[in-house]
Amino acid sequence: MCQVCRRSFIRGAAALGATGLFSSPLMAQAPRGETGSLRLPARGEFTIANAYVMTMDSVLGDIADGSVHVRNGEIVAVGKDVNGGGERIDGTGLIVMPGLVETHWHMWNTLFRSFAGDKPEDGYFPTVARFGQQMSPDDIFQSTRLSAAEAINSGMTFVHSWCHNARSTAHAEADIRALAEVGIRARHSCGWPQGLPDTQSADQGPIESLARNWKSWSNEGLITLGMAWRGQFRAGPIKPEVYQPEFDNARKLGLPITVHVASARKAVNQIELLYKAKLMGKDVQLIHTLSANAAELDMIKESGSPVSVSPGSELRIGYGYPQISEMLAKGIPLGISVDTSALTGSSNLFGVLKLARDSENAKAESEFKMTARKALELGTIEGARSMGIDDRIGSLKPGKRADLIAISPNALNMAVVADPAHLVLEATGAENVDTVVVDGRILKRGGKLAALDTPEVIAGARAALAGVRERTKWR
Ligand SMILES: [Zn+2]
Repeated sequence: MCQVCRRSFIRGAAALGATGLFSSPLMAQAPRGETGSLRLPARGEFTIANAYVMTMDSVLGDIADGSVHVRNGEIVAVGKDVNGGGERIDGTGLIVMPGLVETHWHMWNTLFRSFAGDKPEDGYFPTVARFGQQMSPDDIFQSTRLSAAEAINSGMTFVHSWCHNARSTAHAEADIRALAEVGIRARHSCGWPQGLPDTQSADQGPIESLARNWKSWSNEGLITLGMAWRGQFRAGPIKPEVYQPEFDNARKLGLPITVHVASARKAVNQIELLYKAKLMGKDVQLIHTLSANAAELDMIKESGSPVSVSPGSELRIGYGYPQISEMLAKGIPLGISVDTSALTGSSNLFGVLKLARDSENAKAESEFKMTARKALELGTIEGARSMGIDDRIGSLKPGKRADLIAISPNALNMAVVADPAHLVLEATGAENVDTVVVDGRILKRGGKLAALDTPEVIAGARAALAGVRERTKWR
């Protein structure tokens, strides 16, 4: 599409959203909560019966004709002969598994989905910096709500909202409100505003305010707080007097830290510098780490830092191949992430997990380097371990919180089932995700979002984008 056509197409779509042509009278009559959203459903009691259950638990394994009994948000029983109570949901023909665990996503910039263009001046970083600086708290809300709705729709039950556009406390709060409204389990990592000079420390006001009142923001413990840190490098090196106070403050507040480091293969030595400055540890998640050499992989392992890689964005932006097999061989906790829809378009994590497996096979020039099962583990139990929440989610096991999905292969793109792990990894689209449960709440059922007004989410995002376009004078 030519630049002018592309812009007028976007303008047209924004106008449709702004004038509410997508609004649905049926949805408008449904009960609404304080924020104007549909209320989240209650955590009830139900049993999904006669399904193919992939527990992703090393002891329980896969269970054909299995059942999962859920009560008050907790998994009560999983097995073949479960006499579960509550509503009986027929799982015949469905594949039930834990919800996907996403580990680093700039949900605030989904408003600019596929905006990263084909020329350097239209690339990812200048684009999000330019538009990001014009965003109001409501724009952040609309963008993150769109992302979280897409997450639920495509089978993610946990996301890490990496909010590096906290322009004020209100902006950070808007990101959290969107996560809470959708009902997804999440970590919100509060960062700095786009456009902040590398010579200036980030204002600690927003994160301190959130930490002080966290209970009122946590949506009954479903959302936790972290700090998104710029680290030692952005376009160039950042001075210790700028970055150290930010890092120290997060540690003082007892918050987990997350940082992009060694993003591109050509960004060498950054991990060694971070390690030598004692800025790694179990509480410091490292993003990308593509240039890690053997010694640096040992430093990551020794420090205890978990890592998140995002093959979808890393391949798209030309950073190179992630080092997934290399990190797994060292025993480094590893999760997979979306990163940004501005680069990747769709945020379907099944597709990203497939890219993770495929990039390892491509590097090894082998069809058999990584198994489909391992890729699904990275998207569930291993992702949860990397975020420090594997005691609560990531596998289907009695005592864990009920974050699960049911996939229906009864569609043209699936249809036949041989090896469920291969089929789920290689073919699942959002349209195949039949049911999504977060903390015992059924948020998608029969392929439809149960607690969200989808047309309103879309119209809200389009109207917000129209406002940002106006303020940036982008015609
Ligand atoms: Zn990122």
